[in-house]
Amino acid sequence: MIPYGRQTIEDDDIQAVVDVLKSDYLTTGPKIAEFEQIVADYVGAKYAVAISNGTSALHAACFAAGIGPGDEVITTPLTFAASANCVLYCGGTPVFADVDARTYNIDPEDIKRKITDKTRAIIAVHLAGQPCDMDEIHSIAREHNLVVIEDGAHALGSVYKGKKIGSLSDMTTFSFHPVKPITTGEGGMIVTDNESLYKKLLLFRSHGITRDDSLMNRNDGPWFYQQLDLGYNYRITDIQCALGCSQMKKLDRFLKRRKEIVARYNEAFAGCNNIVTPYQLPETESGWHLYIVQIKKHDRKKVFETLRECGIGVNVHYIPVYMHPYYQEHGYENVHCRNAEEVYSHIISLPLYPGLSIEQQEYVIRTLKDICE
Ligand SMILES: *Cc1c(COP(=O)(O)O)cnc(C)c1O
Repeated sequence: MIPYGRQTIEDDDIQAVVDVLKSDYLTTGPKIAEFEQIVADYVGAKYAVAISNGTSALHAACFAAGIGPGDEVITTPLTFAASANCVLYCGGTPVFADVDARTYNIDPEDIKRKITDKTRAIIAVHLAGQPCDMDEIHSIAREHNLVVIEDGAHALGSVYKGKKIGSLSDMTTFSFHPVKPITTGEGGMIVTDNESLYKKLLLFRSHGITRDDSLMNRNDGPWFYQQLDLGYNYRITDIQCALGCSQMKKLDRFLKRRKEIVARYNEAFAGCNNIVTPYQLPETESGWHLYIVQIKKHDRKKVFETLRECGIGVNVHYIPVYMHPYYQEHGYENVHCRNAEEVYSHIISLPLYPGLSIEQQEYVIRTLKDICE
């Protein structure tokens, strides 16, 4: 089976992990800060906090933003459940704004309609790596005094108007799950320019505990620490961060490969009016985490099943979050986002990852064209 996404692990990645295994620290050693610095420098952010995964990164961001019971946070339904679950973890209420039918990203016009006096934050998700309309989102946030969190799980290396994703908003989160732009196995990060948010994120990652004298209200001696808030054990290991450091050296090469594959797909499907290829927002560069097409005339389910039968590991990104039983049973049974549901009914994600060979891609193209023509 050709998967829809796959990690690229090379010999030097393996060596980096082995080196840590032979060192003094397996977790919370020097590799954490090194990885944080590399990612912060790459995206152009002041602070970075490496954390156990992309979901805990979102949870930490909602915590640092002060989201709690009674607060509403607006996000997109066309995303992985974690982008909304993080609000629920904090006792807040996710509110879904519909997507733009062309970009599949959250529609700023619908954000405006969903704002109430309880709205505290917006979580913008750069679906497939395609940046959201951040200027519009920031202008809405300024007007209503909202925190902006970007879920950049797909968008490490994506660029919006000349600036990397991670340098634009109050906080941006990343995921290093194996299918994401780079991997640490499991892993995540939050980047920010705000020192006070940074300090909250650090506390949250490790039980709410600090040894920082300036934060403690007394100090009994060199052994002393205090728990200031209710945090979690969301730490990431040095083993993972060593892999992350090594992977970061390859990110630009990975992104270039993804772009080449996408160009080949776009060209191959240009003449097929049954296959809608991704729209590209002007003044942005997608990191191309996913290649999502819409199947128009044929039945999507049949096309999907046939591709799977042919050994092509297609996927669907995503089922609108509020359609899941958990959300349906928790107050979202009457929520409908027309564009998100329409897009959902047609989409298929085709294989896209740096290691996809030309032969494999040509097989995917030929197979899909045969089904759709
Ligand atoms: C993968 C992903 C996450 C969660 O990341 P994990 O590292 O798997 O916890 C969150 N949001 C989006 C959009 C994702 O694709």
